[in-house]
Amino acid sequence: MPQQDAAPPAAGASVAGTVAILGRPNVGKSTLLNRIVGEKLAIVSPKPQTTRNRIVGVWNGTIALTTGAAPVKGQIVFVDTPGVHPPRSELSRFMVREALDTVEGVDAVLMLIEAPQGPAPASGMPRGAASLPEIERRIIERVQEARLPAVLAVNKVDRLKDKSLLLPVIQAWSQRDPFKAIVPISATAGVGVVDLVRELLGLMPKGPPLYDEETVTDRSERFLAGELIREQLFLRLRNELPYATAVVVDNWEERPQGDVVIDATVMVERESQKGIVVGKGGQMIRDVGMASREEITRLLGRPAHLRLHAKVAPDWTESPELIARLGYKQED
Ligand code: GDP
Ligand code: MG
Repeated sequence: MPQQDAAPPAAGASVAGTVAILGRPNVGKSTLLNRIVGEKLAIVSPKPQTTRNRIVGVWNGTIALTTGAAPVKGQIVFVDTPGVHPPRSELSRFMVREALDTVEGVDAVLMLIEAPQGPAPASGMPRGAASLPEIERRIIERVQEARLPAVLAVNKVDRLKDKSLLLPVIQAWSQRDPFKAIVPISATAGVGVVDLVRELLGLMPKGPPLYDEETVTDRSERFLAGELIREQLFLRLRNELPYATAVVVDNWEERPQGDVVIDATVMVERESQKGIVVGKGGQMIRDVGMASREEITRLLGRPAHLRLHAKVAPDWTESPELIARLGYKQED
């Protein structure tokens, strides 16, 4: 539950809470979650709108909040979300809702933006409330409505050759009220991530851990395996086709010899799309299957066998019922 104006945790006390990671598509939210948790939970691709559901990743650790202070032990439950974007289909409306509604019931929000790649005027750089980019404005409004503390992380600073370009961005954002801290980071290089976690830890309420220390995520192996298949589709299919795909894990058989046999189906919207997913002589679906199998084996830490099929669910991205049936439904 949100807690405002909580006193900073006393030295030695344990804190625990939840943080929603919000931002437009492709700013690196999933990459950051994986980096913080140290495991690949959320799939990542160069294409926007790869993430469709919320995914929880649990961080446990002990950090001194200020230099010289006694370290604070704590747990942060991070919630990765689909990017906030102007919705074009029924599916993307679900995704934006899934992202913004995460604000209900968390203790703090981490908003992620990208560092500018060149000199100003850079995208994502506000000069006043009026010119605040639409997406970020929507996020900030929700955060303020929910009266939550928020931290801003400026990601991908590794791409910035001239680091002085960061300064005006940080200055511009710091003139805006809501952020408790602004932290430049690189999720891929790991730069600034500890500082970021420290800032967030300072916002967490006192209390015992929400998950036991071995738990990394709330998602099942079955869900994560389906996501790894979807990641391969996002990496290999072009144009709009990735957005027309969903993956259903139909069968999951743990065998006595310690391996797993998985049957999964790639759903597409049209017969012509199925042709592309299967590929010439079945080449595409074989490649996707082989790459996914390797990733799933790594995830599970035991051998996986994957039988992958393709199937048409006509216009499923516009059908609320099919969208829900394919695993995209609001949870409580
Ligand atoms: P999301 O849509 O916000 O979850 O973004 P992803 O985590 O899927 O990342 C989108 C793309 O940005 C991927 O190609 C990532 O490899 C890339 N990316 C993420 N973080 C960084 C970073 O710190 N530096 C650079 N150069 N690329 C990054
Ligand atoms: Mg993502």
